[in-house]
Order: sequence, then structure tokens, then C-alpha cells
Amino acid sequence: MTLPKGYWRNRDRYLPFPLLAGGARGGRNNTTFALQMTIDELNEKYLPLTPEQRIAEVYKDFNKVLFTSSFGTSAVFLLHLFNRVKPEETVYFLDTTYHFAETLEYKEKLTRMFDLKVVDVLPEDWKNKFTRDDHTWHKDPDFCCSINKVEPMERIKKGHEIWVSGLMSYQNAHRSNLNIFEKKKDIIKFYPVLDVSEAELNKYLEVNNLPVHPLKPLGYSSVGCVHCTSKGQGREGRWSNKSKTECGLHL
Ligand code: SF4
Repeated sequence: MTLPKGYWRNRDRYLPFPLLAGGARGGRNNTTFALQMTIDELNEKYLPLTPEQRIAEVYKDFNKVLFTSSFGTSAVFLLHLFNRVKPEETVYFLDTTYHFAETLEYKEKLTRMFDLKVVDVLPEDWKNKFTRDDHTWHKDPDFCCSINKVEPMERIKKGHEIWVSGLMSYQNAHRSNLNIFEKKKDIIKFYPVLDVSEAELNKYLEVNNLPVHPLKPLGYSSVGCVHCTSKGQGREGRWSNKSKTECGLHL
């Protein structure tokens, strides 16, 4: 999705926006109003709004909202927005058991700072142990991510209508093709900060004096598991010697 930079802060200047592609209906027979809307209609409604307005609005349109955070280098942006709009919301954290100590320290710091209600979501113990003994991240990283990220996520998705995450278009080619709302299997995905540029993100962090991930000043622009993260610009340090660019959660 290509949008004029800064449009959400000056949206009157850019209206009207073209309708986005797509057309799958929200899907289930449910009392939630937004589930009766098409994905196109949701995108059309939310596109002119600011990220903060989008988050506020989604709680009027949906009942069962799922919010996850990686506590990575850009996570504080969405956490801060939620703290302003819906501070009581639970934050689910996929604990692969392979996170950097710095990520876990940063998570604790932000939890205290925003008084977050964080729930750690862990993989099945024996499967996680298998990947640890097998070094599966070397041999088959898709399988490792499937065990340690995708399967645990599938468990918590149940019972939710919509899954909020902080993907941003500028981060890679796959993300640049997403829309604010997408229907994925049995859940709607919602990316309220998708169209925020890297410059706008950095400005927001600076203006709000938000703490940066401790590995960012050391050259890690994006941070995931220890075994699959190296220094680099953008997401080039993620699975850097492999064709893999996403963990599977967002595909
Ligand atoms: S990012 Fe690497 S270590 Fe983490 S779950 Fe995926 S393959 Fe395994």
C-alpha cells in the first residue's frame, strides 16, 4: 500500500482516498457489528483515521480483540498508543525461549512503565526441547518458528475476532503489500500503524521520550530470537543467510 507520507496527520488534505482491493466479508454469524462489514468497508472506514483513532474505533466495532507484542525495536510505539487508548488491554508475548536477555529486560521495563498486563505464551515444553536439542533453527527455521511461535499463537487466537499487531509497510516487501485489515483463516488481522513511515515512528518515539530497545544503538534495527538475529539495517539482520523473511505468524 503506497500512501502519502504523513497523511494520517493531515488527512483532510488527502481525502478522499481510493477504496482498497479485497472483498472478503468479515465472515462469522456474530453479534459484532464489524463482522458484518466487508474487509473493503473496514479498510475504507479506517484508512483516513490516525493510528490512535483506529485503535479507539476498533473497540467500538469489535468485542474480542487480541493484542500481541514482540517487545522488539518498534514495539513501544503501539504499546504507547494502547496505553493511551485502552490501557487495560492484555498484551500477549510469544516467549519462544530464545529471546535476547535485553529483550526480556526491555519487556520488564515497559511493563513497569506502562503498568502493562502481559501474558507470556509458551510453546509446548517437549516440542521446544526438541528444537533446542536439534538446533532446528539451523536446519529448518520454518519448522522451528512453527513450533515456537505459530502453534502457541493458534492457541490464543481462539475466542478472538480480531488480532492487532504492529507491522509497518516500510519494514519489508511482504508488509508493504498489506492493508490495514486482512482476513486470515478464522481471524481478522488489524495493523493500525501499517502506514507510518520510519521517520514518523522515530519522531513519535523522540517526542514522547520513549525508551529504545537496548540492542538498537548497538546496530540491531530489528530484533527477534538470538539464533536468527544479527546486526543490520531494517530487517536484513533477521534470518540473514536465508531466504526466510517472516516467522510465519503474518503469512
Ligand atoms: S526465529 Fe529462529 S529461533 Fe526463533 S522460533 Fe523462529 S527459527 Fe526458531
